[in-house]
Amino acid sequence: MNSAEIISLFEQYVMPTYGRYPLAFVRGQGARVWDADGKEYLDFGGGIAVNVLGHSHPAITAALTQQSQVLIHTSNLYYTAPQGLLAKKLVELVGSAGKCFFCNSGGEANEALYKLARKFGAGRYEILTFHNSFHGRTLAGISATGQEKVKKGFEPLVDGFRHVPFNDLDAVAKAIGPKTAAILLEPIQGEGGIEPARPDFLRGLRRLCDERGLLLMFDEVQCGIGRTGDFCGWKSIAPDVVPDAVSWAKGLAGGFPIGAIWARQPYADLLGPGTHASTFGGTPLACAVALAVLAVIEREQLMANARAQGEYFQTRARALPGVTQVRGVGLMLGVELAVENKPVIAKMAEHGLLGVPAGTKVVRFLPPLNVTRAEMDEAVEKLKASL
Ligand code: PLP
Repeated sequence: MNSAEIISLFEQYVMPTYGRYPLAFVRGQGARVWDADGKEYLDFGGGIAVNVLGHSHPAITAALTQQSQVLIHTSNLYYTAPQGLLAKKLVELVGSAGKCFFCNSGGEANEALYKLARKFGAGRYEILTFHNSFHGRTLAGISATGQEKVKKGFEPLVDGFRHVPFNDLDAVAKAIGPKTAAILLEPIQGEGGIEPARPDFLRGLRRLCDERGLLLMFDEVQCGIGRTGDFCGWKSIAPDVVPDAVSWAKGLAGGFPIGAIWARQPYADLLGPGTHASTFGGTPLACAVALAVLAVIEREQLMANARAQGEYFQTRARALPGVTQVRGVGLMLGVELAVENKPVIAKMAEHGLLGVPAGTKVVRFLPPLNVTRAEMDEAVEKLKASL
């Protein structure tokens, strides 16, 4: 099938929920993908922060093949080793005693956080979130999200979310009321335009949560899994801060669907038997792939690579004409333009470079963590040509 034929199938049979680029991909290798007409692209969108090892990584193929030949799914009525081992690994990577719950996506992981907060609150149910945040497309997810455009047409929203200005500790302190149970934030806002929290803001939130008896919850769906140069995105900003709960998804299994949360003790047992569930959550297959991905990230020191390549890209991108600002941490990169982002992203595709819009003027680059210096140079040249 060529690109036009694939696109026409979508026009007829797939719900038009996405504004898609007119590109249809059939194959990927490392940081590159090929469309159905044979054109090659440097994939710096990374499936929106998902393909942490790039495309067709042999470790992912091996884990998928081996585990699928042994045991794919059992339900959570039973125990399986991969889920237990992945939970142990995640607890070790966070570095504080706690436990995990597994699901399939970022939106679903955040749902578990909302329910954890309500259990913790025992009557207090309000969660403070932030302007420009993004927490997913479930009904509670759009209620938590601090952007009007995702809510329109879906009212009434889920009660109990209030949005406050990001990086403004005084505003947060003033917003806490008798019903507030938790604060939820992306330590680096992704969809909102690559906006990192300030270190003093994260530390201040921790202090406020301790003083006022609130859970501090981090949505690391986009900024986690090593992308910022640390497994935990917030540790790239304030390594001394320990949250009460964290959500992950996207890159955790390098493209195979999985979501997870971690909650620290003494909150890790709040969601007891019968309170929460997910049929596909933590299957042996998904967990085996995630374990393989985490092993490659560690063995090949990809977090150090993410830091180094990210810094290099920032320096080079800052020098480009038409670029007003370059923000980000590690390989979570935002290039702010003097003009609107969407026409530039279309031009980039013509030049064989994929990126993702954020806000109206930011082009996001979320390349695989094993990206090379040569690929970084190539991306900068293609971006320059597109500007
Ligand atoms: N949280 C953040 C920070 C995200 O960036 C996203 C997706 O972009 C989500 C949650 C939702 O994740 P999913 O699309 O897997 O439900």
